[in-house]
Amino acid sequence: MGSTVLVTGGAGYIGSHACKVLARNGYTPVTYDNLSTGWSAAVKFGPFEQGDLLDRERLDDVFARYQPQAVMHFAALSQVGESMRQPGMYWHNNVCGSLNLIEAAVAAGCLDFVFSSTCATYGDQDNVLLDESCDQRPINAYAASKRAIEDILDNFGEAYGLRSVIFRYFNVAGADPEGEVGEFHQPETHLIPLILDAIDGRRAALTIYGEDYDTPDGTCIRDYVHVLDLVEAHLLGLRWLEDGKGSRVFNLGTGKGFSVREVLDRSRAVTNRDIPVIAGQRRAGDATRLVSGSARAEQELGWTPGRSTLDEMIRDAWNWHQHGGYDL
Ligand code: UDP
Repeated sequence: MGSTVLVTGGAGYIGSHACKVLARNGYTPVTYDNLSTGWSAAVKFGPFEQGDLLDRERLDDVFARYQPQAVMHFAALSQVGESMRQPGMYWHNNVCGSLNLIEAAVAAGCLDFVFSSTCATYGDQDNVLLDESCDQRPINAYAASKRAIEDILDNFGEAYGLRSVIFRYFNVAGADPEGEVGEFHQPETHLIPLILDAIDGRRAALTIYGEDYDTPDGTCIRDYVHVLDLVEAHLLGLRWLEDGKGSRVFNLGTGKGFSVREVLDRSRAVTNRDIPVIAGQRRAGDATRLVSGSARAEQELGWTPGRSTLDEMIRDAWNWHQHGGYDL
């Protein structure tokens, strides 16, 4: 048996893909998940421990039994709109929960930590490529909660020698091309799965959240990255820590931005289907443009986001949408 990695949120979209890649590379991924938004059917590649981040006793027990070499911390509430309506829930679950996890890891002597942060921590900084040195100015409670966890990791690094690789994700999309795991949120809030729902009639139409932004076609611009490329970066991050290279922040994006309308156009082309669209209001908390300055991960980690074309992400998501799914 290879070494063990504790994967919080391993029953969720990104965490389940990470478990698959970890298992394939000789690690034992132990999923820790409260199933508030994840699925036990997505835990296919290692042991499952159902538990909450706020339950310190349960965490201590899991650390003692598995003695993981590292933590990959995916578990979080992650919807921008919801975070604006219920900020307390985000601070409680994401920040208090992560603090609890970080304290448990340090107490157990597990000092290598890979953390899922977000490009949303940069906030609205028009017309610049966002690299890791940009100021962080969160404009929604989700991003503020992630930013706070970055600070906790930094402080615990100083105080206890915790080593963290912090990944600031841009927009994650696509699915495992082998169809074992994929994106499945209830309710769904993300653009590409919602477009696919509108294509196959699971939803009446796709609502565009605002067409009056300061962008060429008026819709928001995002940098989309394939979930498999993203989890490959996590493997590289783990090796970075194993090699003793210490704490570092990396953006995970491609450096190319696409508007909501461009994503719709590619979705029509890839699926060869029509998409009913409704023009809607702006969604609170949305930044105009989030595009990664992605050189650092490529140069220092040797990361190549080779699957992250819109067409490949849409194709893999469409394949999962049509043929995948979990037996719940
Ligand atoms: N979006 C949209 N309609 C939807 C869902 C999303 O127009 O039904 C837009 C949203 O405003 C943002 C982009 O699509 O500009 C990506 O949103 P998503 O929720 O997928 O990711 P986020 O950028 O919030 O992490």
